[in-house]
Amino acid sequence: MTAVSAEFSGPASSAIPASPAIPASPDAHLASEETRATLRVQSQMLAATRAFLTRQGFQELLPPIIGPVTDPGTRGSKQVDVDYYGHKYKLMTSAILYKQATLTAFDKIFYIAPNVRLEPLETAVTHRHLAEFHQIDVEIRDARREDAMAVAEALVSHVVADAVQEMPAELELLGRDTDALREVVTQAFGRMSHQEATDDLIAAGHPQNPGAEIDWEGEEMISAKSTRPFFVVDYPKGSRGFYDRERTDAPGVLRNFDLIAPEGYGELASGSEREYDYATLVTRIRETGENPAKYGWYLDLARRGLPASSGFGIGLERFTRYVTGRPSVWQASAYPKLPGVVSA
Ligand code: AMP
Ligand code: MG
Repeated sequence: MTAVSAEFSGPASSAIPASPAIPASPDAHLASEETRATLRVQSQMLAATRAFLTRQGFQELLPPIIGPVTDPGTRGSKQVDVDYYGHKYKLMTSAILYKQATLTAFDKIFYIAPNVRLEPLETAVTHRHLAEFHQIDVEIRDARREDAMAVAEALVSHVVADAVQEMPAELELLGRDTDALREVVTQAFGRMSHQEATDDLIAAGHPQNPGAEIDWEGEEMISAKSTRPFFVVDYPKGSRGFYDRERTDAPGVLRNFDLIAPEGYGELASGSEREYDYATLVTRIRETGENPAKYGWYLDLARRGLPASSGFGIGLERFTRYVTGRPSVWQASAYPKLPGVVSA
């Protein structure tokens, strides 16, 4: 395995220490006391997530791993093909299409879902990108964006509070400032629009493109300025997947959101109200330059009637990195796959 050291150590305002090089093999990584403490906290976070969502009436399902089509809205990353008895299948980049389909049978669902995305090489130094990661993937039938945001906020607050209470020895070993985490639990999350975030970044001298997702350097800058998590809402069409619903009162603006962690840790989750209308989905897919025929089973189902829904996906390793205060996201994975790095 190649050792990769961090070239990008975050903006000066970020409190996150520089990241070390990735160890050569899983046993070397797992031998580290810090790795084991991080993974114990992650295990606790998973238990707290399941307890919270189950209590709220969510049904856990096991997620799909492969399928004829997967989430195309993964900006710059490549999908992985699987030869499925002579058919070209994909490893899931996200399970969004299956989440929508499942709401024909269940009202509130979640997965702990593995995703594989061959992210561009330059993301190996963002401290936030893995080629293999997991999402806490939540979807709610007949819900509005605000309903999904409320669940995301309550879930994150609960999991953080639980970790602070149940894992003090691990967090102390990792040197995590738990006062910063307590603030998360006691204060409501903030909210700004994509336009406001863009204006702030441009005013700070960062060349954020107003028609695109907040780039990862910009995202780290706005994150470092905050002491509590906050939502960025209303991303422009074209910056996100075809399944994020467009606002009828403001064409070109999507009813979606990101949840950004404070202290420079950056994006934790993305979510939205979903498009479910067949004709609109076909138009939106075409607008992204893709051929709707590729989405066979999904569009067949949409023609028969997909339920309205809202949902989100929280990156589990990013969430763990934030709670444990680790310099880099790969430190929150037992078997890290860093973009471009050949590893076990
Ligand atoms: P997305 O729909 O692309 O925003 O993915 C949902 C969530 O998964 C994000 O908010 C991140 O927390 C996480 N995520 C996305 N891509 C990666 C990646 N390459 N490595 C680690 N986590 C990721
Ligand atoms: Mg996102």
